Amino acid sequence: MKSPTKSNLYDIIDRTLGGNTLRDYPLSRFTTFRIGGPADIIAFPQNENEICAVTEISRNERIPLIPLGAGSNLLFSDHGYRGIILSLNRMKHVEIIDNNKNEIKLVAMAGASLPGIISKFSEFCAVGPSRLWGIPGQLGGSIACNAGAMNINIADLICEIELLDQNNKKIVSKFRDLDYGYRTMKLPPGAIVTSATLVAHKGDADQVLNELDIAKKKRRASQPHGLPSAGCVFRNPSSSNPAGAIIDRLGMKGMRIGSAEVSERHANFIVNRGKARAADVVRLIELIKKRAWDEQRVSLELEIRIMESGDSN
Ligand SMILES: Cc1cc2nc3c(=O)[nH]c(=O)nc-3n(C[C@H](O)[C@H](O)[C@H](O)COP(=O)(O)OP(=O)(O)OC[C@H]3O[C@@H](n4cnc5c(N)ncnc54)[C@H](O)[C@@H]3O)c2cc1C
Repeated sequence: MKSPTKSNLYDIIDRTLGGNTLRDYPLSRFTTFRIGGPADIIAFPQNENEICAVTEISRNERIPLIPLGAGSNLLFSDHGYRGIILSLNRMKHVEIIDNNKNEIKLVAMAGASLPGIISKFSEFCAVGPSRLWGIPGQLGGSIACNAGAMNINIADLICEIELLDQNNKKIVSKFRDLDYGYRTMKLPPGAIVTSATLVAHKGDADQVLNELDIAKKKRRASQPHGLPSAGCVFRNPSSSNPAGAIIDRLGMKGMRIGSAEVSERHANFIVNRGKARAADVVRLIELIKKRAWDEQRVSLELEIRIMESGDSN
């Protein structure tokens, strides 16, 4: 029997998800960098069963697949992605499950926006989460990257996460089982986070407002406004020698390749000044890395994830 073509398989995915797919669609519309060529298919499952249906096709037919959150830590190639992008955009539900005098606990689906979760916590006077104000991710992507700021990481809020492993087996990982570090979370290969339960302690309203105020001021003073980016490009080699300061010392602020520019405001941000291509960003990254090594003997490592045409996590 003839094996189905990729196009037939994409038709099957489209029917399975009730038409909730996009074909040959530019990934630039799904990343905060506003960069990325067309994906073969972007699938928008609405529940775990639909995720499983898509991942099963990917696995059986050996079609690469990558989960996508808010696309705020990603650089996709100008050639796009030959495979399936699994967007969690339609799985956003957030629910408070415990609200007592000491703590507030909520359960959220992977596609819930991190800013939305932070503001929910602040509303209930939770202390700590407000320091993550301004990180534009979704919950699943933020867990995968262990997003953090001002001495708190998303991992610090986790009670448990629910995952689907690469065989579609549901796994519940408690906080004590998590293997995480600075901007890293070790998930089983090919795992997709579907939801998480987060908890934070309560304080008083002034404490929370103060925390929010500091986070907002810090971000507004140090980060570029209104220009597409993927946040910090490099991991900080150490807290005393952050990547931004290293790049600043290299005198590279404002340096451009095409429309990709080292931000004048924060040297660890590369901003898209118009129609930047992924290739421009990659060349700028290579140049920064080379100069950091040649002139300061520092080996810079990427914080953003660069996705080539058929990569998977
Ligand atoms: C202006 C700006 C400021 C930022 N500031 C910060 C900051 O202060 N601190 C910080 O840590 N980051 C920061 N970032 C980076 C980024 O916002 C975070 O890393 C964010 O948490 C990524 O979440 P996302 O949903 O956008 O993930 P994506 O970029 O969509 O995906 C990131 C990775 O997670 C994987 N992934 C996505 N969803 C899932 C899922 N459900 N299951 C398994 N894997 C998944 C993807 O395949 C990919 O490998 C900033 C970015 C911008 C643009």
